[in-house]
Order: sequence, then structure tokens, then C-alpha cells
Amino acid sequence: MLIPFVPKEYFCIKCNDFRLWHAQNETKPHIDLIIDAASFAFDQLFNKLKFKNIRRIEICLYHSNEQAVSCLDRSIPGNMAMAPYSTNKGSLIILQNPIADPINGDLQRMRRMLVHEICHLFVREKSGSTAFLGDGLKDMKVRPWVDEGFAEYLSWLCIGKRNPILQKSFRYIDNLDEVDRLLNDFSSDRRTLAFYTSSFLVQSLIEEFGLNNFFESMTKLYEIRHLPTKRFNGFATSQFF
Ligand SMILES: [Zn+2]
Repeated sequence: MLIPFVPKEYFCIKCNDFRLWHAQNETKPHIDLIIDAASFAFDQLFNKLKFKNIRRIEICLYHSNEQAVSCLDRSIPGNMAMAPYSTNKGSLIILQNPIADPINGDLQRMRRMLVHEICHLFVREKSGSTAFLGDGLKDMKVRPWVDEGFAEYLSWLCIGKRNPILQKSFRYIDNLDEVDRLLNDFSSDRRTLAFYTSSFLVQSLIEEFGLNNFFESMTKLYEIRHLPTKRFNGFATSQFF
């Protein structure tokens, strides 16, 4: 079976919660690191969210950045991971090996990235959303700031450490349409601010409503998308629910 964005010559390893696709000449330490990181991420997320995905999750470990760029048909940095699709037919996370960027050999970072990407897939399934790279998020029922903020909050919760890029203090962006726009603009130098704002906001909401209530409400978040965005002040949560 051909899987979108996965080279047809790649080999497959079946694990409990996912299938890992890799090049024939991929090294065992690289493969073992992904299996370790992904198994950790699934265990932690099942534990915290009590959610079992129905959509099958594939993980593809690209052997080089050139391979990632050619399969995705777009330029991405060597340290980038993403979840290029999630549909009723299945879902995919792509990763790159330490040849693409040595930082990909950092187990703790890979665990955090996998929690983050798996979380995106869970949110899509839970909210009945479909996403495919390049579709402009037209079938996403959850706003980008909720999706990103939730993935980041969960990775912090599971790893016990914040993403290093979020450890400095930043000014928040007080317009959620602007946050959504920046989260999808990979070339913007203000994207980190949008990331920071969404993580902080989701954290505030979860502290007020609880993790499971927040996750359960994913289907209702669709309605929020159609509310006029107000400027928020002190993250008054009532205006979001
Ligand atoms: Zn993300």
C-alpha cells in the first residue's frame, strides 16, 4: 500500500501504537531512538488523555533532509517534524534523522516533538477534523491557537520541561486572528510570539477547566471559530467558552 509522503522503497516496523517507516540503510540507533521516543509519547498521552486513536498513525523517518524536501515537495529545515495529514484513512508524522540535523539525535527533544505531533493527530480525530498538507486547514474544526497551544502544553506536561524556545519571557499578542495567522506563517519572525501566546492561553484555560474537560470540548471549539474575535485582557476565559 502506498502511503502519501512515504518513499515506496521504505521498510516498515510494526509497533504497538504506530508503524515506523524508514530507509533500508537507516542505522539501528536512529530507528531505536524513534521507537523509544514514540513509545514514550503514546504511553504518556494515553495516560493523561485516556484517548485511544482509531485513525492509524504512521511515522516516517526520512534518511536525509533532501529526501524530506523531495517527498513533501517543499523546503523544510533539517530539524523539523510535522504531521502532514490526518484523515479517516489514517495519519502520518514525519521526522528527519540526525544526518539531516544532529539535533535529531537528542532523545528528550524527540520525545517532546513526538508528544506534540501525536497531540495534533489526537485533536484532529477528536474534533472530527481532516487535514492534508497544503489544504489551507479548510477542514480543521479547531483554531490554530487551540491546536498549537494544546500540543505544546501536553509536551510540557509529559516531558516536565518547557520547549527551550518558550523559556524566555515574551510580549503576548492580544489578537487571536493575528495569532492564528502567524502560527501558519513559517517565515515570520513573530511566529514564536504566537506560539508563546497560544501555549500560555491554553495553559490558563486548562488550569481553569481541567485537562480532560478541555480535551472533551474539542468538538465544541468549532463554534468558537465563528465568533468574532475580541481582544482579550488578562486572558478572561469566559469569552472563549
Ligand atoms: Zn505544532
